[in-house]
Amino acid sequence: MSEVDRTEADVETSVSDSVRKHLEAQEPSAEEKRALRKAHDGHLVRDTTSQLSVDPDEPGPGMEVEADAEIPDTYCFTCEAWIGFSGVDLRGTPRSRRDAYYLGGMPADVRRAKAGTEDTLGELADALTDRVGHLDSRGDAYEFIATTLEEVRADANGGGA
Ligand SMILES: [Zn+2]
Repeated sequence: MSEVDRTEADVETSVSDSVRKHLEAQEPSAEEKRALRKAHDGHLVRDTTSQLSVDPDEPGPGMEVEADAEIPDTYCFTCEAWIGFSGVDLRGTPRSRRDAYYLGGMPADVRRAKAGTEDTLGELADALTDRVGHLDSRGDAYEFIATTLEEVRADANGGGA
């Protein structure tokens, strides 16, 4: 029984080794990754690392080991799905869109829409400062717009919930 001689550190190393090998085996090839990248080109994505408990293939006799692994993958907000760069079946979604970016760069229509939205918001802010006594600056007006937007969104999402 060589197992007896194994120290705890050895066991941990071999478990993380086996988990790592297991995960590497699931990872798509470079070509598959390219195809995935192409499929989500111009989509709004976010790189996220998920904590996952992984069962190593053969933890050894008498050992119940579940190793925590960190799985880096990318979530696509446009498709509402994980892109699958890790090959692991990930659940859950990133909590926020902070740090989200457009894969392969922002598409031209999005760029135009963004610029148009900014222009329109600027005009709206100027109109509001003209019309509303206590809105003295564009900053005030943007705050007013943001508050109103929150309320509009809550109404749209809640629907009476
Ligand atoms: Zn996508």
